[in-house]
Amino acid sequence: MLTGVNVAFIGGDARQIEVIKKCSELDANISLIGFNQLQSEYAGASKASLSEDVLQRLDALILPIVGTSEEGKVESIFSDKPIIFREEHIKNLPDDCVIYTGMAKNYLKELCSRHAKKLVQLLERDDVAIYNSIPTVEGAIMMAIQNTDVTLHGANVVILGLGRVGMSLARSLSAMGAHVRVGARKPADLARIYEMGLVPFHMNQLRYHVDDCDILFNTIPKMVVTSHIIAKMPHHTFILDLASKPGGVDFRFADKRGIKAKLAPGLPGIVAPKTAGVIIANVVTQLMMEQFEENQEGSSI
Ligand code: NAP
Repeated sequence: MLTGVNVAFIGGDARQIEVIKKCSELDANISLIGFNQLQSEYAGASKASLSEDVLQRLDALILPIVGTSEEGKVESIFSDKPIIFREEHIKNLPDDCVIYTGMAKNYLKELCSRHAKKLVQLLERDDVAIYNSIPTVEGAIMMAIQNTDVTLHGANVVILGLGRVGMSLARSLSAMGAHVRVGARKPADLARIYEMGLVPFHMNQLRYHVDDCDILFNTIPKMVVTSHIIAKMPHHTFILDLASKPGGVDFRFADKRGIKAKLAPGLPGIVAPKTAGVIIANVVTQLMMEQFEENQEGSSI
């Protein structure tokens, strides 16, 4: 439980509602900053401002998945007023207050480091990335179906990268009957791809694996689908780049060759905001319970 724990939320989108609900179920005291247009009410939660008296008693501060901009702006779909998280705010937080966010830009990282505040970037965690790969893969499959005129069953599919997303994608597409080839660079990953009953190839051999490709999914956040690779693809290939911006595909050249290529960031929040919110809610509340237990143990010594 989070009884007696003071948590504030600053801004966010539909995903944050799931985190607020979970904190409310666990009996936390909740301050909602930048939620003036939120209609629903949650037990233990009240709307608040970025004021000294709210910040001074916090155990945890929860920012949106995207954290802040490089200027400190916090996006909130529940507010019509801009919210800027500044030096004057962070310095009011107690020493042991932990700041949770999905990801942090340099602005937030530097602010936390200057004020010796613990910053937890949830999307960097392996468990969150693996849970998030589920809605990501569903979104990727949806986009592949929308952008091709063949079934995934029987299609020649190339997946680049066997990380958290690549692994889930390879397994799902294979279960749907696609002919799946996966490119990786580590011997252990190549062995795993083989063990999964799929066709492995080393990334430096990519050019030999695209000439009959119907759909290519990239999960590698580096420029790997270069003009040389695209030049070897059939015209009907659909390229879906799942890697974080700017992706790993030469989109300019794909366009020039008439090959359809799309970058698809943020799929969990688009195709399954509720699930994406529940994933964050489960992990962040578990971390807060551990944090609170540690604080209590520390204060009882
Ligand atoms: P991950 O577990 O780190 O996997 C990344 C993969 O890329 C690994 O297999 C890694 O192999 C490979 N890789 C990295 N640099 C490489 C290089 N220079 N050459 C060859 N292989 C390289 O990441 P993930 O969680 O699967 O996420 C993959 C990407 O998708 C990230 O950019 C992430 O931000 C993004 N993402 C997007 C969505 C969306 O909605 N579109 C959702 C979730 C994640 P090694 O182990 O050999 O380095």
